[in-house]
Amino acid sequence: MPIRQLSETMINQIAAGEVIERPASVVKELVENALDAGASKVEVVTAGGGLNLIRVTDDGFGIPEQELALAIARHCTSKLAEDIHDIRSLGFRGEALPSIGSVSRLSIRSRTASGDSAAEIGIDGGRVLPVKPAAANRGTTVEVRDLFFATPARLKFMKGERAESSAISDIVKRIAIAFPTVRFTLAGSDRTTLDLPAAEDSADGSLRRVAQVMGADFPDNSIAIDAMREGVHLTGHVSIPSFTRANALQQYAYVNGRPVRDKLIAGAIRGAFADVLPRDRHAVTVLFLSLDPAIVDVNVHPAKADVRFRDPGLVRGLIVGAIRQALAEAGIRSATTGAAGMMAAFRPGAASYDHGGPTNGHRSYEAAFHASGPTGFDPSRSPQRPLDMQFAGAGFERGNARTGGFGESDQAAFDAGPLASADARAGQNEATETLLGAVLGAARAQVHENYIVAQTRDSLVIVDQHAAHERLVYEALKNALHSRPVPSQMLLLPEIIDLPEEDAERLAMHSETLARFGLGIERFGPGAVAVRETPSMLGETNVGQLVRDLADEIADNDTVETLKERLDTIAATMACHGSVRSGRLLKAEEMNALLRQMEATPGSGTCNHGRPTYIELKLADIERLFGRR
Ligand code: ADP
Ligand code: MG
Repeated sequence: MPIRQLSETMINQIAAGEVIERPASVVKELVENALDAGASKVEVVTAGGGLNLIRVTDDGFGIPEQELALAIARHCTSKLAEDIHDIRSLGFRGEALPSIGSVSRLSIRSRTASGDSAAEIGIDGGRVLPVKPAAANRGTTVEVRDLFFATPARLKFMKGERAESSAISDIVKRIAIAFPTVRFTLAGSDRTTLDLPAAEDSADGSLRRVAQVMGADFPDNSIAIDAMREGVHLTGHVSIPSFTRANALQQYAYVNGRPVRDKLIAGAIRGAFADVLPRDRHAVTVLFLSLDPAIVDVNVHPAKADVRFRDPGLVRGLIVGAIRQALAEAGIRSATTGAAGMMAAFRPGAASYDHGGPTNGHRSYEAAFHASGPTGFDPSRSPQRPLDMQFAGAGFERGNARTGGFGESDQAAFDAGPLASADARAGQNEATETLLGAVLGAARAQVHENYIVAQTRDSLVIVDQHAAHERLVYEALKNALHSRPVPSQMLLLPEIIDLPEEDAERLAMHSETLARFGLGIERFGPGAVAVRETPSMLGETNVGQLVRDLADEIADNDTVETLKERLDTIAATMACHGSVRSGRLLKAEEMNALLRQMEATPGSGTCNHGRPTYIELKLADIERLFGRR
C-alpha cells in the first residue's frame, strides 16, 4: 500500500485513543475546560456510566460564535501563547474537543458575556455540523452522546455502568478539591447526586472542600502540612497514623492546581509513613505542590496526569521531610478523636439498656463500629476496638503465661498507685500534682499486666505498655542508626553484580552515601559493580536484589531512600523483639518514667505498626456515660 496522509477524522481518533480512555476522561477534559473558562459553577450530568450521555454546563466566559468551529478543530487552543514551558491553565494541547468529537456525537452550545445570543455547533463521529443559533445563558454546555459509537473496539473495554460512573465521581471529586471556590454538582440517572457547594477562598475553605469530598472525619484525624524548600511550596493535610486505608486511592496530589497521579509523590508519601504504618496500610493525604511552572513538565502524556520535576530529589525530600516533621510534632497526639464514637457506643441510651442489659449493650457497641464502615473507619485498627483485639498474636498470651496467678497482678495494681500507704500518699501528693499536668498524666495502676492507667487533670489515659515501649526502642535504634555510620560487615568474597551501564554509573555516583548506610560498593568495569560490604543489620541478604532496587530508585527519584527504609524496617523488627513484652509488672516509678519518655519522643502516639500506643478518655465523656452531664 502506498504511503498516504491519514484523514482528519482518523488522526483525531488516534489521538482519542490516548486522551479519551473512558467516560471519566471526557468528564475530566470538559470540567477542565469549564475551569479554564473561569466558571464559578460546574454541573455534570451523566447517563449509562457516561457512555450514553455526559453533559457539562458552566457559567464561564463562553466561546464567541465565530470561534466555535475552531474549538473543535485539532491543535486549536486559546490557552498556549508562546511558551510550552510556562503553562498556567489545565488545558493547552487543543486536542480534547476534536478527539471526543471523532468518537461520539458532540455538541457545544455557548454564549459570551457580550454576545446577545447563544450559538451551537455539533460534530458527529468526526463529521462537523454547521453552526446554528441557540438559546442559552452565559457560559457553555458541552454534550457528549454515544461515546465510542464510532470506535466499537474501545467500547468493548468499558467496565460496566457502575464502574464507569464511579470513575466519573472520582475524577470530579479529585478536581473539585483543587477548586474549593467553585460549586460542583454531579447528577444523572446512573448515580446519587453529589453537590459540593462553593467554599470561601481561604485555608479554611480549602479544608471544608476536602471534608466535603473525603468525609467530615478527615479534618479531625489529619495534620496540616506547610513547608517550603528552594521555591517549592507544599501544603495540605495527611492523616494521623491511626486513620488509614487498605489502598492508596485516597491520596490526592496536585501540582500547581492540576490533579496528578505521580509515582514520585506516591513513593514519597509511602517513605514518609514507612515508620508509622504497617506495609499494607495507606495514609489518606491531600497534598498541593506549587512551584514555578518552568521547573515542572506537564506535557508528558496527553492525559496530563503525569508530571516530571526538574529536581525530583528536591520534591521527594520536601514531601518526606515535611510529613515526617508534622508527624513528629503531632507525635504525642494519639487518635483521641475516635473516643467520641466509643462514647456513643457505650452510651446506654442506644436501645439496649432498658430491655437487654449488658449483652445488648455490647451488641450496640459493635454495631457502632460497623455502622461507620463506609466512611473508611476500620474497627480492627481503631483505638477504640476492644482492647484484647490488639494483642492477638502479639505476645500477649505468652506474657500472661509468664506471670504468676491473680495474686501477683492484684498486688501490682496496688503497688502502682499512691494507694500503697497513707505515708507514701502524703509524700507523693506534691509530685503527683505536677504529673497531673503532663500530657499523659500520673500513673495510677497497671491492669491486665499490660495497661497503664494514668490520670491527667481532665482525663483518663490508658497506655499499652508493650506498644509504647516498642516505639521508644525503635526511635532510639533509629537515632543511633542515622547519627553515625551504620556498622557493616565485609563479604568474604566481593559480590559482582551485572547491571546496565547507566545503573552501574548511578550507583557509583552515590557510593559515598551508600557507604554511610553500610553498603560498600564500587564500579567494576562498565556494566557491573562490586559489593564488598553490607550493613550488618541486614544479616544474610540478597545483595543483587538490594543493589538493583537501589539502582531503580536512583533512576526514578535520584535518592537512596530504599536502603534507609530497609534499615528502618530492620530497626522496627529489632525493636519489636527487644521491647518489654506485655505481662511485665511495672512499679509506679517505672510507669511514670515510661510516660515521660513517651512525651519526649516524637511519634510515640503510635507503635511501629501504626497502632495507637495510648487512648485518652475525657473526664467529661466519662461523666456523660454515667449520666452526670
Ligand atoms: P485545550 O483545552 O487544550 O485548549 P480543548 O480541545 O479542550 O483544548 O478546547 C479547545 C478550545 O475551546 C479551548 O482552548 C477554549 O478556547 C475553548 N473551550 C472549550 N471548552 C470551553 C468552555 N467550557 N468555555 C470556554 N471555552 C471553551
Ligand atoms: Mg481542554
